[in-house]
Amino acid sequence: MKTVLLENNEKDITIAAELIRNGEVVGVPTETVYGLCADARNESAVKAVFEAKGRPADNPLIVHLAEFSQAELYTSYIPELAYRLAEKFCPGALTMVLPKNNRIPMITSGGLDTVGIRVPSHPVMHRVIELSGCPVAAPSANISGLPSPTCAEHVMQDMNGRISAVINGGNSKYGVESTVISFDNENTVRILRPGAVTKEMLAQICGNVIIDPAILSELAENAVASSPGMKYKHYSPKADVIMIESSLQDFIEYVDQNNSDNTYSLIFDGDEDNFPCRYLTYGADSSQQAHMIFRRLRELDDMGAEKVYVRAPSKTGVGLAVYNRLIRAAGFEVIKL
Ligand code: AMP
Ligand code: MG
Repeated sequence: MKTVLLENNEKDITIAAELIRNGEVVGVPTETVYGLCADARNESAVKAVFEAKGRPADNPLIVHLAEFSQAELYTSYIPELAYRLAEKFCPGALTMVLPKNNRIPMITSGGLDTVGIRVPSHPVMHRVIELSGCPVAAPSANISGLPSPTCAEHVMQDMNGRISAVINGGNSKYGVESTVISFDNENTVRILRPGAVTKEMLAQICGNVIIDPAILSELAENAVASSPGMKYKHYSPKADVIMIESSLQDFIEYVDQNNSDNTYSLIFDGDEDNFPCRYLTYGADSSQQAHMIFRRLRELDDMGAEKVYVRAPSKTGVGLAVYNRLIRAAGFEVIKL
């Protein structure tokens, strides 16, 4: 299959929407990361998404809609709290897990009786959904397990020859995937995956915000995951990633002592002065780090890095999302100095 690179204009967006309506798979920019879009109601189109990614069949796809009101078409119940959250965060980087109805096939929800619903704000993604007239299933447009794509070139690296087209819409604004929440009760949400809609932002609307323990630490061997994505190794470059929680001084001493061929450090902007080993920087604050983290993990692979020591990011605000992606890239290998 030849993968066509489309441009960010109405003509090309119309072509993409037509492909999706016809059951094909298209890479589309969103404000979080690039997504692999297919008609969520079309079982063979959704199957093609799972195949293109090599994604395990029990890992559900998020369904993207043009307006939150359309969630009523695909769910059997929407709590009042979800409407209040939608007023504040839709369109945006928030996915709400709700009980699905039979308009969403089981293949899309990975066999679950719930479906994640998101209303993206990116104008290209929004227009693709509008023109296709479909509920759009769209997981991140990477090969399963690899870092998520934040520009069209990354999608091409992973998906060239596997999907019909990719729309080039430049760099993703946030750089990490959406915040995924479920509802524990009428007043309480549970964060299943942290993203740009932070715990602090959710707490302004919800009485209670729980951070699922699997966000910060490894699931126990026999534990049931609240969200299937938690079970899988994720965001991993080929290199062995090790996260180090320490002061800059202790980090420098550690990597200096443990440096070897093809070892790199991933440090903050501002840490560079007299840094003793090879390094890349990944931003100065949490939102810059979110924006850059997946790009840097891909670059480290391109550079042939075999071991990467990463300075642990802050766990507050969108930093929690960066920390979560890195600790998973590190296979939960953290050194505290
Ligand atoms: P991605 O498609 O790459 O953005 O990953 C989506 C993630 O959202 C999945 O790996 C799940 O962990 C989570 N998710 C999607 N739908 C549901 C659902 N119905 N219940 C729980 N988690 C979900
Ligand atoms: Mg993904």
